[in-house]
Parts: sequence; structure tokens; C-alpha cells
Amino acid sequence: MSDCIFCKILNGEIPSAKVYEDENVLAFLDISQVTKGHTLVIPKTHQANIYELTPDVASKLFSAVPKIANAIKNAYNPIGLNLLNNNGEYAGQSVFHYHVHLIPRYGEGDGFG
Ligand code: 5GP
Ligand code: ZN
Repeated sequence: MSDCIFCKILNGEIPSAKVYEDENVLAFLDISQVTKGHTLVIPKTHQANIYELTPDVASKLFSAVPKIANAIKNAYNPIGLNLLNNNGEYAGQSVFHYHVHLIPRYGEGDGFG
């Protein structure tokens, strides 16, 4: 989609700090990290939200999530990790290309929750 920020990241028009990539999925650091290592995981096809996400794309995306979680765990040594997915403006979605937030947690006062 031409006006989608995450499609622009996928095609290299907008740079990103890559955490993980395979043929179906890209993970990169959030530009405005709520905690150190806050990462977004996106499918390489444009699907706006959970309602549009096809089972095949969902399966490929979530197959990669444990690998990405472990990469974050090894890199940042958090004491916990939240997965978050916002759908619809009211729920806090601001980019309408499906994504899962991986938010490492470091204890009280870490900036999230
Ligand atoms: P949402 O609010 O839709 O659940 O999450 C969108 C996320 O995308 C936000 O946390 C925001 O900081 C992040 N974001 C928006 N634009 C960019 C960008 O150009 N690059 C990166 N790396 N993250 C972005
Ligand atoms: Zn997109």
C-alpha cells in the first residue's frame, strides 16, 4: 500500500533498525520505544488489522515470534516481555498495517504498564 508507513519500511523507503527478518516477516525497533528493545513484528503483506489477517499470514508471523522474543531476551536481558496488538483507533492503533508489539519489561518504573 503506497501510503502505509510499514509498507515503506518493507520496501526500504523508510529506514528501520532490523531485529529479525525472514521471507514472510520483519521485526524492527519501534521509533518511539516505550521500553528499551521495544520491537514491532509485521507481516510482509499489507493486512490492516486482526480482522483482515489471514490464517496463513498469522501462522507465519506467529511462528517467528518466539525466535524474536528470544533474540530480545538475549540482547536486552529483560525480566519479562509483553505482547500487544491494537486494533482500531479506539484501541490505540495508529498504523493500519498489522503489527505485534514486543515490549521488554525491566521492573517498576520501566515506562510501561
Ligand atoms: P500502534 O499504535 O498502531 O499499535 O503502533 C504503531 C507503532 O508504530 C507506534 O508504537 C509508533 O511509535 C511506531 N511507528 C510509527 N512510525 C514509525 C516509523 O516510521 N518507524 C518505526 N520504527 N516505528 C514507527
Ligand atoms: Zn502496509
